[in-house]
Amino acid sequence: TKPLEGKVAIVTGGSRGIGAAIVRRLAADGASVAFTFANSKDKADAIVSEIEAKGARAFAIQADSADAAAVQKAIDAAVDHFGTLDILVNNAGILLLSSLEDFPLEDFDRMFAVNVRAVFAGTQAAAKHMQDGGRVINIGSVAAERSGFPTSSVYSMTKGAVAAMTRGLARDLGPRGITVNAIQPGPTETDMNPDPHSNDMLKGLMALGRLGEDREIASFVAYLASSEASFITGAGLTIDGGYLA
Ligand code: NDP
Repeated sequence: TKPLEGKVAIVTGGSRGIGAAIVRRLAADGASVAFTFANSKDKADAIVSEIEAKGARAFAIQADSADAAAVQKAIDAAVDHFGTLDILVNNAGILLLSSLEDFPLEDFDRMFAVNVRAVFAGTQAAAKHMQDGGRVINIGSVAAERSGFPTSSVYSMTKGAVAAMTRGLARDLGPRGITVNAIQPGPTETDMNPDPHSNDMLKGLMALGRLGEDREIASFVAYLASSEASFITGAGLTIDGGYLA
């Protein structure tokens, strides 16, 4: 049997990039997977068809993480659809960069809403439904440990907040046998890193000399979601090809 047979997962921001790889991997491991997206309806529908063609179950829900109530409604809808909830992956995130002088405070609020507020609100909603032995997996970033470059103070702050919130939520949910962890990827090849010149510069900073692939991050999520990872909680777990080394 597959490691996540009979489990139900919900992934935020599952239409592209790391989130899409997580959706595919959890489904391949036997879970029924609901996921949210903001704009990419066609991509979301294609992922559902692809998973269903392989005989697994998937369900896509449009929900903008900037609106915490929409995330909570999406989680309730996923539970209505699949009947229960075992795994929440808070993946949806945005990166908005600007010089300190020009940084729009609207961008501060939007990044905080998507990267932090929605993670808390989503966990709140999921905790109501989650079974003993449940898993909350937050996609943070190595930016919580190292900003690295100018213009990223607010993004780094949001991921530092995810790391701190993860420790707090581990305390809140530990008594119920639910683990909460943050995975902190280093630079990974997705639409979030579109510039080949910046990526060449980043490669020079990685011990492995390359960016990560979305499925390598998904593999770590699959491990944390599995029963193998039952004693890991409250941790900030770096997966970065040696970017911090
Ligand atoms: P992408 O930009 O490639 O994909 C983002 C995904 O999140 C898309 O599915 C997008 O949906 C969804 N999303 C974005 N905004 C919202 C929103 N407001 N509401 C709902 N869904 C939303 O990003 P990555 O895959 O690279 O990043 C995923 C996570 O990993 C983020 O939290 C990011 O901070 C983190 N991370 C990424 C790293 C990297 O180098 N790529 C490194 C470290 C961490 P839609 O398609 O509809 O727009």
